[in-house]
Amino acid sequence: MTGTPSAKAMSLSDQIIADIKANGPIGLDSYMAACLGDTDHGYYFGKDPFGADGDFTTAPEISGLFGEMCGLYLAHMFELAGTPTNAEIVELGPGRGTLMRDMRHVWDMVMPALSRLPVNLVETSPSLRKQQGRTLAPFEPVWHESLASCPDAPLFGIANEFFDALPVRQVVWRTKADTAENVDTAKGSWHHRLVGLDNDELCFVDGAELGADEHADIKLTLPEAPSEGMIAEICPTADDVIAALSSRIARRGGAFLIIDYGRNGNGGDSLQAVADHKPVDVFHQAGRADLSHWVDFAALSRCARNNGCRLIGPVPQGRFLMRIGLASRAEQAGAAADNEQRRALLAAVDRLTSPAQMGEVFKVALLVPDGEGTPPGFDEITMNGEDII
Ligand code: SAH
Repeated sequence: MTGTPSAKAMSLSDQIIADIKANGPIGLDSYMAACLGDTDHGYYFGKDPFGADGDFTTAPEISGLFGEMCGLYLAHMFELAGTPTNAEIVELGPGRGTLMRDMRHVWDMVMPALSRLPVNLVETSPSLRKQQGRTLAPFEPVWHESLASCPDAPLFGIANEFFDALPVRQVVWRTKADTAENVDTAKGSWHHRLVGLDNDELCFVDGAELGADEHADIKLTLPEAPSEGMIAEICPTADDVIAALSSRIARRGGAFLIIDYGRNGNGGDSLQAVADHKPVDVFHQAGRADLSHWVDFAALSRCARNNGCRLIGPVPQGRFLMRIGLASRAEQAGAAADNEQRRALLAAVDRLTSPAQMGEVFKVALLVPDGEGTPPGFDEITMNGEDII
C-alpha cells in the first residue's frame, strides 16, 4: 500500500478491499504485511502496542531479569568464541529497546568487551525507532531496515517475538471430490489460501493449486498425511532472515538467540489477531490489531542447516531460563529488595517460566556455526531438535 493522500484518507480495510476488487484476491502474507507495516495505517506504525495500556506484554517488559539472563547467556557464548573484538551486536525487532538496555546493563558488569561492540537494530517502525533511540541513546545504536545492511562480522544477538510478526502464507489441502473414484481415496492437492471478498467483506478464499516447483520448495514443511481443509503455514521472510544471519555466522562466527512462541514443526492455522489483550477476528479492523503466527522452528532449523549453521533447540522458555540460573539470580536480586519487590520478582519468574503462562508456549533456540556439542540450557534436553525428556 502506498502513502498517497487519498490512500491516507481511506481506512486500511477499504484500501485492501478496493485493491482486491480491482486485482483479485491477495496472499495472506501481503495482507499481514499491510496490516503490520503499512506506512500510514500499519499496526507497528501507530500507537505503542506494548504493556498494560497496549495490546500485549513481552518478556522483556515483564521483568529486567529476562534481559539479564539473555545477556549473561550471550556473554557466555562470546567468551566461548574467544571474545572477538571485531564482533557486532544485532537485535531484530527491538520493540521499546528494553531488552537491549537490560543486556547492556549486565554486560557492563560481567563482560565489558561486549559493551564496547557496536549495536545494530533491525527495525522498520519509525515510532518504535524513536522509542528505542530514547532508551538506547548512550549506546549510539545504528538502525537497519533489514539484515542486508548489517555488517559482515561475527554476530552476537537476539530476536524476541520478532519471527512471529513476519508475514506468513497459508496453503489448504483440498480433496478431489470431482470424480467418483477420488471421493474415498483422500487424493487431493494443496492450494494457496488467499484473502478475498464475500459481499464486500474480507474473508479467506481458495486460490490456485500449488505448481510443481512451489510444492517442491515447501514439501518438507507440509504435513505428510493431509486431510480435507487442513492448513499449513509457510514464512518465506523468516527463511530470508535465517539465511542472512546464517551466512554471516557460518563464515564469521557468533551466536544468536531466537525466542518466540511456536513449535518444532508446522503449526497449522496459527494466525491470530490480538487487540487490547483479547483475541479478535483476523479481518477485524485491519491495522488496529496485532497479527502474529506460531513460529515453525523446524523450518528455521532446515534453513540454518542449508546455510552452514546449526539451530540448537528449541526448548521451552521456562526450562531454558531455569537451567541457566534464573531462580538463583532472582533470589540474589530479592535479597536486597523489600517485601513488595520480592513478591514482584517471584511473580515475574512465575510468569516467565510457568507452563501455564509463558514457560511452555515460548521456545528458545540458538543459532551457531555448524559444529558439535550442546551449550548450557540446551544440554540433555534436545537431540536433533527433538525433546528427549
Ligand atoms: N523484541 C521486542 C518487540 C517484539 S514486537 C520485545 O520483546 O518487546 C516485534 C518487533 O519487531 C517490533 O519492534 C516491530 O516493529 C518489529 N518488526 C516487525 N516486523 C518487522 C520487520 N519485517 N522488519 C524489522 N522489524 C520488524
